[in-house]
Amino acid sequence: MAASGVRVFEEYESNVRSYSRVFPTVFARARNATIWDEAGKAYTDFFSGAGTLNYGHNPPEIRAQLVAYLESEGIIHALDAYTVEKRRFLDTFVEGVLRPRKLDFKVQFCGPTGANGVEAALKLARRVTGRTGVIAFGGSYHGMSMGSGSVTGSTSVRRNLGVPTVGVSFVPYESGPQGPFDSVGYLERVLADSSSGVDAPAAIIVEPVQLDGGIYVGSPAFMQGLRAVCDRYGALLICDEIQAGVGRAGHFFSFEASGVVPDLVTVSKSIGGYGLPMSLVLMRREHDHWKPGEHTGTFRGNQLAFVAATAALEYWTRPAFTNGLADGTRYLRDVFAPAARALHPDIEVRGAGMVAGVDLTRVGGNEAARRAASRCFEKGLIIECCGRDDSVMKLMPPLTTPPEQLAEGCRILLDAIRAGLPGQG
Ligand code: PMP
Repeated sequence: MAASGVRVFEEYESNVRSYSRVFPTVFARARNATIWDEAGKAYTDFFSGAGTLNYGHNPPEIRAQLVAYLESEGIIHALDAYTVEKRRFLDTFVEGVLRPRKLDFKVQFCGPTGANGVEAALKLARRVTGRTGVIAFGGSYHGMSMGSGSVTGSTSVRRNLGVPTVGVSFVPYESGPQGPFDSVGYLERVLADSSSGVDAPAAIIVEPVQLDGGIYVGSPAFMQGLRAVCDRYGALLICDEIQAGVGRAGHFFSFEASGVVPDLVTVSKSIGGYGLPMSLVLMRREHDHWKPGEHTGTFRGNQLAFVAATAALEYWTRPAFTNGLADGTRYLRDVFAPAARALHPDIEVRGAGMVAGVDLTRVGGNEAARRAASRCFEKGLIIECCGRDDSVMKLMPPLTTPPEQLAEGCRILLDAIRAGLPGQG
């Protein structure tokens, strides 16, 4: 049957669809930082599949390995049985990522979503400590399943779970729309007081860099303070690296900037290399209290994802990739951020590595951000808005974006923001 624009989606796809409303076209193919729709219009991608395409679309080195694997009749589905590709991935991950960072972690392969990794981490922390309470942060995003949604700040995410969430205490993040907060001082105070109403928790779950919450970067002192609180009160520190990890914030793990070693780490999105599904919990060896089969999932061993992820880890040994990440980081920090701030004194810009947020809260808020995002879309730039009420424009290009394309995308974005400023018509 012939393709018919977007009618079939609007008629048959559930109302739950969301990005299709922000990017109203039908996409057909993509290469690195460029996506084409079916009419042939090219867009620069400053969205990267919400952090899943750090190596760009269809990277040829990874594609070649995937094609060869398919041609070889390599096993595709094996649940969590031992396979050649899973061994290659684990060897490469241990030698290339964990050992150089002196991280003695074991690896749990979860069901394919980030949320499933968060579920596993919360279950494990409760198991290890024998406690139920968890401390999470305002502005956090950890997923939409029952456990991951329960530690997510947004009221609507928790309300949509449909049942009361219990056992989670929220603390303001170190920085946020309301200004700075001494989160560690607050935690020290309530946990030292047996009548504060907050008991020693099983875990503190934190994004070292909050992205969906509006691009807030936790300081090294904040992360070190959380580590000290966990040590003093026997709680596990869970770092959610699902979006900020795998290079996005500049290091392989975003917690590296602070020097802390978490107890549990959730990793997903770009670890799969090619946009293929993979979700991991990394755990300090002594925390592996699981018994066989206690957290399962049919799709917890996608062999194509192992092939792609192993090939992607090779990027970290190539100066062209690591220098590109350093150059992109410098460009966003030293060229883009000052240019965005110069547009208006009330524009705030925050970021780390190759992610930046342009906060329009005080210059028109979410209306201005949405208008700027649709102007970008018309001009061929894909970008999403984030933050508590979508007032922050989130610049998240593939880490492999060519410098000229990065500069051109930034120019489109700056023009779109400028056009919506008061007095610009
Ligand atoms: N944690 C963080 C920090 C995330 O950004 C996300 C996804 N945006 C998740 C967890 C949930 O991942 P998934 O959508 O794959 O369930």
